[in-house]
Amino acid sequence: MTIIAEKIQKVRSDIDNVCLACHRDPKSVLLLAVSKTRTDAEIREAYTSGLHAFGENYLQEALEKQTLLSDLEIEWHFIGPIQSNKTRAISEHFDWVHSVDRLKIAERFSAQRPPHLPPLNICIQVNISGEDTKSGCHPEELPELARAIAQLPGVRLRGLMAIPEAEPDSERQRTTFAKVKALMTQLQTEGLDLDTLSMGMSGDLAAAIYEGSTIVRVGTALFGQRT
Ligand SMILES: *Cc1c(COP(=O)(O)O)cnc(C)c1O
Repeated sequence: MTIIAEKIQKVRSDIDNVCLACHRDPKSVLLLAVSKTRTDAEIREAYTSGLHAFGENYLQEALEKQTLLSDLEIEWHFIGPIQSNKTRAISEHFDWVHSVDRLKIAERFSAQRPPHLPPLNICIQVNISGEDTKSGCHPEELPELARAIAQLPGVRLRGLMAIPEAEPDSERQRTTFAKVKALMTQLQTEGLDLDTLSMGMSGDLAAAIYEGSTIVRVGTALFGQRT
């Protein structure tokens, strides 16, 4: 077995164990392989070992790898900061975008999504730790933004994404993820049809799954340290 295949098996068994402990179906958690800075060969190897969803942060890098991997049936997720001048290419080349934090960007996706493709799946990134430097919409602005995006054609609002401040303590990790979950529950109560919580990375995926994550975005634990 290759090193990547072994790491995939380890991450999968971690996910399975957490799901067992909190009575969740492991199939309700998508393992999204975060492949920024990884080569097309590494992605191909992970694909061969059973991963079919990959997350990229940088458009140009992603497009180059997509061309090299066009023989594979990969579901591509854009998870990085979004500049307005990149929305057209993102809407043409991705299935999901996790990092939408303002209406203007969502409107561009809505207008630019090619009609022959299914609606672009969108998560709103929430700035849950309140850090000035982090992107993400403020929790107070979320309901209005979510209602507006949910109306747009060409895109489908699926749920929320969060990148909490790095925190080693697993109880504190859970407290933060529970806040994201509560925000989504509130939106569902208001009638929005949401099914996705994109939260949890290599260092906090267990806490995220306990609190209801449906997509964990994992890089380091699958591919090793980024250089
Ligand atoms: C890089 C990145 C990840 C993966 O982080 P790891 O700690 O390597 O698992 C997840 N989400 C986003 C948005 C990222 O930029």
